[in-house]
Amino acid sequence: MSFTSAQSGDNYRNWWPHRTMTDFTNDSIDELDRLARESENVFHMRRGGYCLATRKKDLDDMLAAIPGDIDVDVLTTGQKIRERFPALSSDIRNVVHIRRGGDISGQQLAQYLLQEFNAGGGRRLRGEVTAIADKNQYQLSVMTESGLRTVEAEMIVNAAGPFVARIARMLGVDLPVKNVFQQKIAFQDHLGVIPRDMPFSIDLDAKRLNWTDEEREMLVEDPALAWLTETLPSGTHCRPEGGANGEWVKLGWAYNQQTSAAQEDLANEPAIDPSFPEIVIRGAASFLPAMAAYVSQPPPRFSHYGGYYTMTAENWPLIGPLDRRGAFVVGALSGFGTMAACAAGKLCADTVCGDRLPAYAADLSLARLDNEELMSDLAATQNKGLL
Ligand SMILES: Cc1cc2nc3c(=O)[nH]c(=O)nc-3n(C[C@H](O)[C@H](O)[C@H](O)COP(=O)(O)OP(=O)(O)OC[C@H]3O[C@@H](n4cnc5c(N)ncnc54)[C@H](O)[C@@H]3O)c2cc1C
Repeated sequence: MSFTSAQSGDNYRNWWPHRTMTDFTNDSIDELDRLARESENVFHMRRGGYCLATRKKDLDDMLAAIPGDIDVDVLTTGQKIRERFPALSSDIRNVVHIRRGGDISGQQLAQYLLQEFNAGGGRRLRGEVTAIADKNQYQLSVMTESGLRTVEAEMIVNAAGPFVARIARMLGVDLPVKNVFQQKIAFQDHLGVIPRDMPFSIDLDAKRLNWTDEEREMLVEDPALAWLTETLPSGTHCRPEGGANGEWVKLGWAYNQQTSAAQEDLANEPAIDPSFPEIVIRGAASFLPAMAAYVSQPPPRFSHYGGYYTMTAENWPLIGPLDRRGAFVVGALSGFGTMAACAAGKLCADTVCGDRLPAYAADLSLARLDNEELMSDLAATQNKGLL
């Protein structure tokens, strides 16, 4: 629950452009539902859905790409959109509302699972794995607060987040993953511009930011900033944080596409952009117009943070055996690791224990790289479900 997981927006959805990811996240949401019932919802699971907003008139391509059994509402008249989602700008012509989506508190969920783990006799050793030797058993060198220790293990699961490739290399395995830094802001909506019952809302359209002529001229002249006057990718998103009585909102926009070498201290990450808060507020204002109030008057209290999307080119995770006896991987969880965590953990546990596996198991493991037909289909698909 540290590092990337501590930066998560904690949103979940079963909306994906491919059956495999839909089935996988549906299984994870089933498990979240079960845990919520069992724990009296100690991790505040909510199901407000996802509101996907677009100015496009024709939704056929988009709807055709969604597996048929995903439960969605499609709102196509201005009046219906305004009644149900009053914060959206008047040029939004269509809204797809994904019903099986919402948010959780990932930290509370992890706390609950940790209690179960402790009650089941699990033990934790805090430290950094610095080397792995493959003798009869694996011997892991672990730097702990009290010095270097050697831990012997018959089996190991590499779930090192942005460092998953580094750990795999200790075993002599290369993983096809990259790290891309993505940012968010959270701020106190002291002007009350976002309705507290607004679902997680996403602008599906690419856009140009709304600069004054003077601002635009200045930006164009600066080679480092000129890109801000060009068309930026889709996916600006916003949701209220902290429930009906809260005051905070979270905004994000995964527009960065540059690969980073993962830093342990995120303060050293070169992709942190001090202008991100302004950019994302301007981006949000283009589909949630009341946000424009914060363009002229930036929020006095906000936090700007980020983390790595550790991802494969096709934006599917890697879960299953590594090509070494007794070694497994749970990685490349990109921007969906919170929502997928329960199914990812179960899939890995079932693989380790030799239990029956779901139909998608092979496609989410390294075995898919040998499936030429699947890999070329995925390479040809533009929509990777990236938010
Ligand atoms: C800005 C942002 C927003 C996001 N929003 C969402 C969202 O709304 N919904 C969603 O589902 N997902 C979201 N995600 C994605 C999600 O947060 C990640 O997919 C998930 O947290 C990855 O979990 P992980 O356990 O693989 O990695 P991490 O949480 O990074 O955990 C890896 C762990 O391995 C440890 N480790 C690494 N190397 C070593 C070593 N050598 N020795 C010992 N330990 C080591 C690290 O210290 C860390 O504790 C978001 C991600 C970001 C960056």
